[in-house]
Amino acid sequence: MTPLTHPLTHLVDVNNPLNFKGYCQQKGYAAAKKVLFEYTPAEALDTVKSSGLKGRGGAGFPTGMKWSFLPEFEEDDPRAKEPKYLICNADEMEPGTFKDRLLLEGVPHQLIESMIIAGYIIGATRAYIFLRGEYHLAAKRIQQAIDEAYQASWLGNDIQQSGYSLELHLHTSAGRYICGEETALINALEGKRATPRAKPPFPQVAGLFGKPTIVNNVETLSNLPHIFAHGVEWFQQHAPESDAGTKIYGACGRIKIPGLWELPMGVSIGRLLNDHAGGMCEGLALKGLLPGGASTDFLLPEHLDVAMDYDSIAKAGSRLGTGGLIVLDDKNCPVAMVKNIMQFFAQESCGWCTPCRDGTPWALEILTRIEQGKGTLTDIDELYRLCDFMWIGKTHCALAPGAVEPLRSALNYFTDDFIQHIEEHCCPYQQRGHHG
Ligand code: SF4
Repeated sequence: MTPLTHPLTHLVDVNNPLNFKGYCQQKGYAAAKKVLFEYTPAEALDTVKSSGLKGRGGAGFPTGMKWSFLPEFEEDDPRAKEPKYLICNADEMEPGTFKDRLLLEGVPHQLIESMIIAGYIIGATRAYIFLRGEYHLAAKRIQQAIDEAYQASWLGNDIQQSGYSLELHLHTSAGRYICGEETALINALEGKRATPRAKPPFPQVAGLFGKPTIVNNVETLSNLPHIFAHGVEWFQQHAPESDAGTKIYGACGRIKIPGLWELPMGVSIGRLLNDHAGGMCEGLALKGLLPGGASTDFLLPEHLDVAMDYDSIAKAGSRLGTGGLIVLDDKNCPVAMVKNIMQFFAQESCGWCTPCRDGTPWALEILTRIEQGKGTLTDIDELYRLCDFMWIGKTHCALAPGAVEPLRSALNYFTDDFIQHIEEHCCPYQQRGHHG
């Protein structure tokens, strides 16, 4: 059998996704069957751990390790009978990121199969797909797939007479970026205001309705059927240099072919940008890029050889995040771009902690002033001060530090652009007739 080079997306069809029958004809649900009948949950957990799968939602935390933090109780302990929950985080709202949408719309049964496998391993009896509210087509297709899976006894009581039962529900979000943070997501699912929770306790111990809960991203979960169908070695061979498996990378901005590509984890930024995305549009040069969505640090053209894996991007001073490149060209104003990003984060701040609630609109005000040519040189110092004020450890969740990353790196890398706006009392890009 020819080894699959793009396992997660090889069955994707966004116009006409496979229904249950079609998915089964392509060996769909075979991996779930194998896990339910040939593995104990503990053996299957060991397989996920040894595969080296890391979360694809942004943090890159090892999936098997996350699952192993669930508390274990002796059989006669009443807590052993309490429910555990599995939640698929499909609240894809990171600017510049649209990879999960491809899987949700293009191969919905793959996610259902993945959740059966994950649910069995962690002992969940109920699972939820928490879906971004604007993903209407995905909602329709996922619900259809859930209904078909119930009809075929792949969901519900005693799945395929394996003794394992799983209820799966689709929940569409009311719409808020912070719902992508797992504890805010749990609050939202409970019908509460979507603010992050103080940790500890972590969701693995006290999550949804106070019970042990695992939250995983769509792309993370979608790896599971392939790991069990083809084996750990096969999975690791995809990324011989570091990490394991493939990654669905994306690219947007003024490039020739914006889109998504499933590639071995660790492809270089240059290959992604030039070979797959076709390079910059005519007449434009690369000025910088955000490697993994809006909440990551800028990298520069000198970083084109950097591998798009967690460690290499971190060594270069940024984060892999979602793996969705946002490209800045030399005719686009970096101050305007950062202002735009800050506007997003200021709007999406849940308001729970002061550094974020007050810091993001304050930074936005200063950036607006600079962009309009009304800033002063002391504004740059003030922006750096705000970056410290909103940094890791000073806020309840990663939204504010995520807003800091593009800002601080832009201040460091594009200092001349900030100074030029201030000294020339205008946006030099607009003056030259380029995009502001
Ligand atoms: Fe809310 Fe922002 Fe604080 Fe996160 S950092 S809890 S989004 S106010």
